[in-house]
Amino acid sequence: MRGSQVRGVVVIGAGHAGVETAVSLRSGGYSGPVTVVGAERHLPYQRPPLSKEMLADAGDPDELTLRSGDFFRDQRITLCHGTAVDIDRAGRQVHVVGSRPVDYDHVVLATGAVPRRLELPGRSLRGVAELRSLDDAIALRASLAGARRVVVLGGGFIGMEVASAARKRGVEVAVLELGDRLLKRAVSPPVSEAVAAYHRAEGVQLFFGEHATELVGSAGHVVGVRTGSGRVLRADVVVLGVGATAVDDLARRAGLDTDGGVVVDRWLATSDPRITAIGDCAVVCDPAGGTRQRLESIQNATDQGRYAAARILGEQRPFHALPWFWSNQGALRLQLVGVAGDVDKLVVRGSEGRFSVFCLRGGRLCAVESVNDPGSHMAARRLLERGTPNEAELLAVDFDVRVLARRARTRENAVA
Ligand SMILES: Cc1cc2nc3c(=O)[nH]c(=O)nc-3n(C[C@H](O)[C@H](O)[C@H](O)COP(=O)(O)OP(=O)(O)OC[C@H]3O[C@@H](n4cnc5c(N)ncnc54)[C@H](O)[C@@H]3O)c2cc1C
Repeated sequence: MRGSQVRGVVVIGAGHAGVETAVSLRSGGYSGPVTVVGAERHLPYQRPPLSKEMLADAGDPDELTLRSGDFFRDQRITLCHGTAVDIDRAGRQVHVVGSRPVDYDHVVLATGAVPRRLELPGRSLRGVAELRSLDDAIALRASLAGARRVVVLGGGFIGMEVASAARKRGVEVAVLELGDRLLKRAVSPPVSEAVAAYHRAEGVQLFFGEHATELVGSAGHVVGVRTGSGRVLRADVVVLGVGATAVDDLARRAGLDTDGGVVVDRWLATSDPRITAIGDCAVVCDPAGGTRQRLESIQNATDQGRYAAARILGEQRPFHALPWFWSNQGALRLQLVGVAGDVDKLVVRGSEGRFSVFCLRGGRLCAVESVNDPGSHMAARRLLERGTPNEAELLAVDFDVRVLARRARTRENAVA
């Protein structure tokens, strides 16, 4: 009686979100088959170091592995190397290139994101790089080893992390940013200014309000970037770092709702209740609250992976987690927590090189952005996990959130 057999869970995508789902299924007591389908040839690995430690000569790919091959075997998690090309929803099977179809009771889509494609003349010249995968990082590191001058297109997190890693190698770096400040989509102006000041002091040239119109080549290799203002910046490596787009083609082919990512509800369910989508590929839509959110962070990927497993195991509550993110750029350590959105007040506390920005909306703390200020940041995170302190509470301690966090802990201990 095939219909009554446990077919298991198929996780598509062996990144942070997918692996967390599989591991959490087992730790939560799921005993059916668990298969993780991954298109990359490596064991699942950590992505953040790709734009940081891995670009230095000593960066070791083996240190990035999320879990060993033995771990997956011991946990009876089948790693299936290949690209999933079709979800047969009627037959409840996933089709993977080079493998037999895999049966499922439930599919978890964790297909991540890919670099936003920049259509530019000269795009396919040698020396033009993108950065998403371990193979990309290995190739970029090899290019940087022989490079004298790098131009980074895009002043976002990955662009600035690469700029920093390249400077550390002694390579000249210029960054072209179309907007008027760095990290504009993610942080407030005081943080953008601090990041720009840090990189300038490190010798990075920053060009704002500038875009590339052409990658100039010679003998098949990039030699420069022509900009909208007619400048040509010399370059032997050009890094395209202009954001990422969700991988939702498989979902679209399967007839699921997509809209700049795989559309899911507050339970992370797609338009097919047997299919959940998580991590960078998922857009969480809440029609009641009028919100729509696609996050690209390790916290989001792992929290959603853990939640997807819990929901398969019977969790009834909708997904909820406090978003947080970090970026290390040389000696600069940025930490963000909360959702800033339309902020109506910013309060900055700290000194020039070490401060936090408190973002207030409707008189309540909604997000905190910290530059080299991990103590305050962790206190702010603990507070935001418990609720959203109001401005009067914060003013009473002159925004020293460590005092508030300590008080909250003392109160909780007293109650316990
Ligand atoms: C260079 C870099 C640096 C970063 N640094 C930070 C940082 O400092 N802090 C932070 O919080 N976040 C950082 N991020 C973001 C973070 O890595 C992502 O948010 C996170 O990896 C998302 O996890 P995911 O599992 O959703 O997707 P991914 O990690 O992208 O994994 C998705 C996987 O699915 C595979 N896949 C896609 N389609 C298929 C298919 N059809 N069949 C089989 N496999 C498929 C892909 O090949 C990929 O391996 C960084 C990202 C990059 C690229």
